[in-house]
Amino acid sequence: MNNFINEDKIFDILGETQSHSRQCVESIINNSLKLKGLSPEEVATLLNCEDLSILNKIFATAREIKETIYGNRIVLFAPLYLSNRCINDCLYCGFRKNTSQNNNQLLQAEEVMKETSALISQGHKRLLLVSAEDPAVNIDYLEEVIKSVYKTRNGRGSIRRLNVNVAPMEVKDFKRLKDTGIGTYQLFQETYHVDTYNKIHVSGPKADYLKRLYACDDAQRAGIDDVGIGVLFGLYQYKFEVMALLFHAMHLEDKFGVGPHTISIPRLEPAQGSDISSHPPYPVSDLELKKIIAILRLAVPYTGIILSTREKESLRNELFHIGVSQVSAGSKTAPGSYSNNDKSEGQFSISDNRSLSEVIENLATMGFIPSFCTSCYRSGRTGEDFMNLAKPGEIKKFCQPNSILTFEEYLLDYNPKLAKKIKSIIDSEVHKIHDPKVRQITSNYIKSLIKGKRDLYL
Ligand code: SAM
Ligand code: SF4
Repeated sequence: MNNFINEDKIFDILGETQSHSRQCVESIINNSLKLKGLSPEEVATLLNCEDLSILNKIFATAREIKETIYGNRIVLFAPLYLSNRCINDCLYCGFRKNTSQNNNQLLQAEEVMKETSALISQGHKRLLLVSAEDPAVNIDYLEEVIKSVYKTRNGRGSIRRLNVNVAPMEVKDFKRLKDTGIGTYQLFQETYHVDTYNKIHVSGPKADYLKRLYACDDAQRAGIDDVGIGVLFGLYQYKFEVMALLFHAMHLEDKFGVGPHTISIPRLEPAQGSDISSHPPYPVSDLELKKIIAILRLAVPYTGIILSTREKESLRNELFHIGVSQVSAGSKTAPGSYSNNDKSEGQFSISDNRSLSEVIENLATMGFIPSFCTSCYRSGRTGEDFMNLAKPGEIKKFCQPNSILTFEEYLLDYNPKLAKKIKSIIDSEVHKIHDPKVRQITSNYIKSLIKGKRDLYL
């Protein structure tokens, strides 16, 4: 295994693109509107821009690209934590092995069902299963809990897509994970800078940089064709990390014909028992986070960008407008905390503490359609098939009607008060569908939902 993140090359490109003309930057921005992505040199040039008027152009273009590809939908999900008992010592994390915290929770299948039921009762349809690295969180255990999540029912609701963010495993176990019916397998490199990685990951299996770097390859080799990558911003220079994310995406695309399904952009948040988490070595400002998201949207236009509740409400509201396509809402990061109403801090502190319904009302007021759509993965539009639709901007044909249908279903089952307030928004969104056939089907499906049918999608 070699390190396909060539650090010297990244620093060289960042150095060579430091001085650039305004005209050159504007031509890169215009070029991004072709939705073919950007080269490393183009991305580095944008990363080196500090001029606010240019940054504002990049933000506006990111918004335009996001709307061209996905429309005005924002997909919602929540994390479900299984365990806080970890064998690794990642200096930034509240679950790390060598803290004074009493981290010894591991949810059993029954408790996982209780958590799932609590999340369903809020209206969630998509969850992200998260766990500390614990020998007990092995593939046998994961098979059992994933089955438990999918079979949980609460009223008319159930979970229709379960993504997973757990420690890497062998290819044979990834194959079994795929067979459970998961959506995306996510794993963040945290930092692509080897020296920083080695200093921060003190002990445990996660201390092996290359093993982690190749985990998404292993998942792909096992047939999991939707993989998610990410960086924990604050650990190292953000410009280097964005370039490395791009090289990771290019590596996956070269090797498997499909880039990452999602990119996550968490920032370091204070965590109990972690000094570094409150004093990030390379703090990323709000403006820099906006820049990171917008440049990623231009660079890998077809990839979902995930934003968590680590960020505060006011900033999230801005970030929705510049390229983010999936957001968590109503999240808790301690195992068991949804069903026990546990207020303990969990893995790290959360800044947006609004409930799912508050986030939804806010999104709808800002002109977005909150979406619980799971259609692509359930219709087999994953991996390369998804990218073949996403790259030419065709995926919107599915996203637009499906977001309306899943939002309508949410309103009927969980939020009739809001339904009355925004009925006209749903009507006008249906009118906006270009294809008359799709518009008609959507209209008919809405009537069926009102009559009591559920889970209708294109
Ligand atoms: N334990 C597995 C792992 O490390 O890959 C599963 C995921 S871990 C529970 C989820 C993610 O939380 C990590 O990948 C890391 O990026 C993030 N994280 C850990 N500590 C954090 C902190 N203090 N602030 C923000 N994010 C943090
Ligand atoms: Fe464990 Fe993951 Fe936290 Fe590291 S980030 S200590 S692996 S839970």
